[in-house]
Amino acid sequence: MAVYSKKTRTTTDHQKALKQNEERFRALIQHSADAIQLLSAEGIVLYSSDSVERVLGYKPEEIQGVEAAPYLHPGDLPLFLERFTSLLQTPGGQVTLEYRVKHKNGSWVWIEATGSNYLHDPHIQAIVGNFRDITQRKQMEERQRLLNKASEKLSSSLDQQITLHEIAQMIVPSLADYCRIAVLDERQQIKEIAVHHIDPEQLTLVQVLYEQYKDNLNSPQGLQKLLETGQAELISDVSEVVLQRTMQENPGMFAIIRALGLKSYMGMPLIARDRVIGAVTFSSSEPQRYYTLDDLAFAQELAHRIALSLDNARLYSAAQKAITLRDDFISIASHELRTPVTSLKLYIQVLQKQLASRGEESLVRSFSKMDAQVNKLAHLIQDLLNVSKIELGKLDFQENWFDLNEVVKETVEQIQSTSGKHRILIKGKINRTVWGDVDRIGQVLTNLLTNAVKYSPQADTIIVRVTASQDGAEVSVQDFGIGIENEHLAHIFDRFYRVSDPEEKTYPGLGIGLYIAYEIIKVHGGNMTVESEKGQGSLFTFTLPDKSSSRSPRDT
Ligand code: ADP
Repeated sequence: MAVYSKKTRTTTDHQKALKQNEERFRALIQHSADAIQLLSAEGIVLYSSDSVERVLGYKPEEIQGVEAAPYLHPGDLPLFLERFTSLLQTPGGQVTLEYRVKHKNGSWVWIEATGSNYLHDPHIQAIVGNFRDITQRKQMEERQRLLNKASEKLSSSLDQQITLHEIAQMIVPSLADYCRIAVLDERQQIKEIAVHHIDPEQLTLVQVLYEQYKDNLNSPQGLQKLLETGQAELISDVSEVVLQRTMQENPGMFAIIRALGLKSYMGMPLIARDRVIGAVTFSSSEPQRYYTLDDLAFAQELAHRIALSLDNARLYSAAQKAITLRDDFISIASHELRTPVTSLKLYIQVLQKQLASRGEESLVRSFSKMDAQVNKLAHLIQDLLNVSKIELGKLDFQENWFDLNEVVKETVEQIQSTSGKHRILIKGKINRTVWGDVDRIGQVLTNLLTNAVKYSPQADTIIVRVTASQDGAEVSVQDFGIGIENEHLAHIFDRFYRVSDPEEKTYPGLGIGLYIAYEIIKVHGGNMTVESEKGQGSLFTFTLPDKSSSRSPRDT
C-alpha cells in the first residue's frame, strides 16, 4: 500500500513536472525573439507562435491550418520550394533561406528563416521554421546597390537624357511607384526629361499631372515648389486633409492624384554649386510604404549624385563648345592672317632691294630684322594652320623615298646657323633611304632642335643620333637643359600643353610644336617618345618604320 501510494505520488510528481516543463517550453517559444512555425510535409502550418504576429501581423489562429506557399512572394517561391523539397529528404537536416512573405497589411516582409527537419522525431513530427524580420537590412542593401548602380550609370555617360531615364527606372519600384526627374535648361525653364511609373498604363497620368502643374506659378506644388524653394519636401502620409487642400486649390490635379492612388510623397531639389538645377520626386501608392526621414536622407544622397553628374555633363558640354569655338577661331584666324603676312613679306623684300640699291645700309639692316620677325610670325601662323588641319585630318603629305642623313644634316646646319651658343653634334648614320614626307620630317626635326636650343640656355651641346633599327630608322635629339618634371611627361605631346612652373623663367611658345611633330610621326606609322629629368635635360626620340613589303628600300 505504502509502496502503491509512494508510486502514485511519484507518478503525480512526474506528471506535474512534465506539465510544468511543457508550459515552460510553450512560454519559451512564445517569448522567443524568433517567430516559430511548425509545418507539415505538405507545407501546411501546424503551429504558429504568438511572435509570428509581430513579424507578419497574423494571430496564430488566423494562420494555423493554412498552406504557407501562397503567402510567399512569387519571385522567391521557386527557390523556397526547391529548398523545402530537399529538406524533406534530409531527416535532421537544416536549411537557411531569405525570402519575402506577405504581411497581413499587404506589404512584403523580408524574412530570414531556418528550417529544420524533425519529421522523424516522434515528439515533433514537423518541419520547424524559425524566422525573423530582416526587411530593414535588405532595404539598406538594396539601396546601397541602387546607389552604386546609379553612380556607375551617371559617371559612365554624359548623355543626360538617357542616363536620367535609366535612373528613373532604377528608382521604380524599389524606392517609388512613380518618379519624375526634371532639370532646368539654360534659361531656368523646366525641361522634363525623365518620368517613370511602375505601371506603364499610369505613366500617361503622371505626364498629364506634370502638364497641369507646369504653369501653376501661383501656388506651386511638386516639382515647381522644389525648384522655387530649393527645399526638400516630405509628406509621409498624403491623408485626406492634404488631398482636400489640393482639391480646393486645383480640382484637376486632385482628380489625377486620386487616380494615381498617391499615399506618400517626397521631393528633392537637385543642387549643384549652390544652384537649383532640377528636382526629383518620389511618389508611393503602395499601401504600407510611408516615406520616413531615413528615406528622405537616402533620397538626398541620390539627388546629390544626380546633381553632380548633371553638373559635370553641363560643364563638359560647355567645355566642348568652347573648344569647338577656339578651334574654329584658330582655323579662321590662321587662314585670314596668312595672306596679309605673305604680302607684308613681299613688300619688305622689295623695299630691302630698293634701299640696298640706294646704299641705305642701316635701313637695310632694320628691314632684315623686320623680315626675320615676319618669318617668325609666318611660322606661327603656319603651325596654327597645321593644328587645324590635323584636327580635320587634312594635313597633306607628299611621301617618297628620301635620304634621312641628308635631312638631318641640312636641318642641323640651318638651326646651328641661328644658334651660336650651342654645338649640335650628329652621331650615327643610316645606310638606306627611308619612306615618308621629307619636308614634314624636316619640320619635326626643326621643332625638336628649336626646343632643344630654347630649353637648354645654360648648356652648350645638343646631340642628334641617327640609327637603323630592326624595322626602320630611329632619330633622337638630346639636350642637357632644364628637363621636364615627371608629371608633365604624359601630356607633353597634347595640343596646347605647356609646362608652367612659377619658378622657371617663362619661355615663349604656344604648346603646339610637339603636338604637330607627334601627329606627323604618327601618320608615318612611327612613334615619338620622351625621356627627361628635371634639371638634367631631355631626350626626344622618333621612329620611322620601313614602308610595308610592297616596296623595298633602296640602298644609298
Ligand atoms: P612650345 O615650345 O611652343 O611651348 P612645344 O609643343 O614645342 O611648345 O612644347 C611643349 C612644352 O614642352 C613646352 O612648353 C616645354 O615646356 C616642354 N618642352 C618641349 N621641349 C622641351 C625640351 N627639350 N626641354 C624641356 N622642356 C621642353
